[in-house]
Amino acid sequence: MNVVGLRSPQQLSFTTSRSECPYCLKTLQWKDIIPILSFTLLKGKCRYCGVRISSLYPIMEIITGMLFVYCYIIIGIQFELFLALALVSMFVIVLVSDITYMIIPNKVLLFFLPIFVVFRIIDPLTPWWDTITGGVAGILIPMSIIIVSKGGMGGGDMKLFGLIGIVLGFKKLCFCFFLSCVIGAIIGIFLIALKLGRRNQPIPFAPYIIAASLITYFYGDSLILWYSNFYHIPFN
Ligand SMILES: [Zn+2]
Repeated sequence: MNVVGLRSPQQLSFTTSRSECPYCLKTLQWKDIIPILSFTLLKGKCRYCGVRISSLYPIMEIITGMLFVYCYIIIGIQFELFLALALVSMFVIVLVSDITYMIIPNKVLLFFLPIFVVFRIIDPLTPWWDTITGGVAGILIPMSIIIVSKGGMGGGDMKLFGLIGIVLGFKKLCFCFFLSCVIGAIIGIFLIALKLGRRNQPIPFAPYIIAASLITYFYGDSLILWYSNFYHIPFN
């Protein structure tokens, strides 16, 4: 996931070319690229030149592993598990790419689009057309924000919401959108308060979308119920 997220925005191949140290350019061996283990055994340094390896690698490897296990714990062995693992895989790739380059590669989204569509045909939401309304809302809601705020949100974020809508359906997509703005606003205020960020400075939004999506995917039903009861909104 790391490799795809780091290479696809630079138009580099991740299927044919071998991994190399970005500093000494030495081609890495199998024992240098075992997730988490290699980083730990090499004490975070390149085996050949000793330069520090970015901690992004072990962090993303741990997050990926934990999310995969979490999907299994929550869903169990069901068809939906494959969809959850595909969703997490896409999120890790997008996360790496967005925090590194502030780009969500179209290639990655286009790869996952048919996968989610096929999964939702085999294992549809109720009603089945919820996938379509969710996907359309996922495009239209961010698009309206982009138009009104003249680019306050990226086109990549909009396409990502479209894919999330296909998986979640209309109601959960709306909740996920709302939740991502809440998380983004809270963290944004903290960053400004701690003088780590400035107003009007662009920040990668995908981390908040991904956090909100995973929360909604796993706990959306009970959260929406709680929220609508709290405000006496008659959902459904
Ligand atoms: Zn090196």
